[in-house]
Amino acid sequence: MAKKRGVAIEEHEKRKLSKQNLSKLSGIFRFILPYKKTFFLGLIFLLFSSLTLLTFPFVAGKLIDTASGKDWIVNGINSIAFILLGILLIQSIFSFFRVWLFAKVSERSMRDIRISLYSRMVQLPMTFFDKRRTGELISRITSDVSLLQDTFSVTLAELFRQIITLIAGVAFLMVTTPKLTFFMLATFPILVVIAMVFGKFIRKLSKETQDELAAANVIVEETLQSIMTVKSFVGEDFETKRYRRGLDKVVHVALKAAGFRGAFISFIIFALFGGIVAVMWYGASLVARGEMSIGDLVSFVLYTTFIGGSIAGLGDIYGQVQKAIGSSERVLEILEEIPEESTADFQKVRIHGDISFENVAFSYPTRTELEVLKNINLKIPAGEKIALAGQSGAGKSTIVQLLLKFYQVQKGQILVDGKPISDWNLQQLRSNIGIVPQEVLLFGGSIRENIAYAKPDATEEEIIEAAKKANSWQFISKFPEGLDTLVGERGIKLSGGQRQRVAIARAILKDPAILILDEATSSLDAESESLVQEALDELMKNRTTIIIAHRLATIRKVDRIYVLKDGEIVEEGNHEQLAEKEDGFYANLVRLQFAE
Ligand code: ADP
Repeated sequence: MAKKRGVAIEEHEKRKLSKQNLSKLSGIFRFILPYKKTFFLGLIFLLFSSLTLLTFPFVAGKLIDTASGKDWIVNGINSIAFILLGILLIQSIFSFFRVWLFAKVSERSMRDIRISLYSRMVQLPMTFFDKRRTGELISRITSDVSLLQDTFSVTLAELFRQIITLIAGVAFLMVTTPKLTFFMLATFPILVVIAMVFGKFIRKLSKETQDELAAANVIVEETLQSIMTVKSFVGEDFETKRYRRGLDKVVHVALKAAGFRGAFISFIIFALFGGIVAVMWYGASLVARGEMSIGDLVSFVLYTTFIGGSIAGLGDIYGQVQKAIGSSERVLEILEEIPEESTADFQKVRIHGDISFENVAFSYPTRTELEVLKNINLKIPAGEKIALAGQSGAGKSTIVQLLLKFYQVQKGQILVDGKPISDWNLQQLRSNIGIVPQEVLLFGGSIRENIAYAKPDATEEEIIEAAKKANSWQFISKFPEGLDTLVGERGIKLSGGQRQRVAIARAILKDPAILILDEATSSLDAESESLVQEALDELMKNRTTIIIAHRLATIRKVDRIYVLKDGEIVEEGNHEQLAEKEDGFYANLVRLQFAE
């Protein structure tokens, strides 16, 4: 906890309104630039509405003076009351336009920020996602951007409004009643100093509250993401208690913050009205001596509340701007990350499908101390089918990820059609590789959308043909909605075997030269199994295929099997050759599986 608090303070220091920090906010400002005309129009309305309202205390004072028999350019209590109502009406109309215009700017610019963030995120390399939590990334695009939106729609307008009120209010009083103004201004510095001290504590505590809340949110995220595991372990109660403990911490810190805030607010109210009492007391003595009219005193007191209000408001804004700096930091951090090669238009080329790995060695950037692959050599001529076997953690998936250019190799090179993949255009390469993953997760749309994901412009006939080849047309055509059947979030409305066949149809439609099959670890029932196998056989025809083998039964037919152990190829050959080897790794794996 002590450490956490240390971090919180450090963060707090980081967010002070230094020049450097403000420049971070200006990084976000560029998203407002396209809407600058609307923004300035909003500012003009803001200026008008603030200035209009500032005439209110002055006219109100005149109303009182008129009542006590003094003359003014407008005479009669009723007429002046109407002027007051008119002032209010005009300022309401101005306020409406200012709110509307600022909302227009902030809604649109925040949409632009979200789009930039999102498109940047999806273009970032895998190493980025290895380092970050999904929930945390989501909160940047949701909460952080929302906070910036508040800042740019409300806080910024408030800032201008309060500054206008403060400057114009003080200036007006200086001109009309200088003596009383100096008296009033003398009381403010004390107020400001005390407010700043309180503000510091409150901000520190609200930062801690946010941290605790984020920690509690992680619990929710984890539980919901692995709800099946939680349920199968009857962990609902345990998780609820864990969440409760998290929230109790939030309440503890939040209440501490509330204590400070309560004390602060009561102090401010006391100080503000205390100031008014002092002004009224001094003002009343001026009135008694005939140095000031009652009406002037009334308008003076009204101005004082305006000015006091705007000083309190500026304190709030200071806190809000600090929060906004934190949020812009988190947003800009993502925008400054360097994306993979650009996904701009690329010429689709049909490749041949020769693959070779030459002396490849690799470590994941997040775990540089562990060499996951050592001296890997593979030669797969176009159209051949090979399997990667070996215990879990041996490096099979890593080989495939390197072929997809998800990571860069540290030693050796990978060639596709004789050209190093570092020279291949990323999209050209990937558009030639199809994958049927181990756990098929479909997107939440229709079956049609899921199959056509590989080829958005596919015709109805092409989609149906792919579905037929993938043995999935039988079940799709039985659904009342056919291809338009919605598969539910992540495809949960389909069975495992059906999901796999949809994924196979998708791969068939993509028609890649290279195919990667990550075999499902859990076996399907016998019927689904044979339907899936048939579909896979169809898919593999005339394609270079790499199978990540988990169950050995399915790889007997491949041209060659590479057996991996701790990142090295320890054996290679076809099933018969390898199974015969006495004491061979593969022979052992086969024996183990049979034992199971
Ligand atoms: P297999 O597919 O044979 O089960 P993997 O290629 O997935 O094995 O993993 C090989 C090794 O690399 C394992 O030790 C695993 O912990 C590690 N590894 C896999 N993915 C990552 C990653 N994204 N970051 C760091 N280490 C990883």
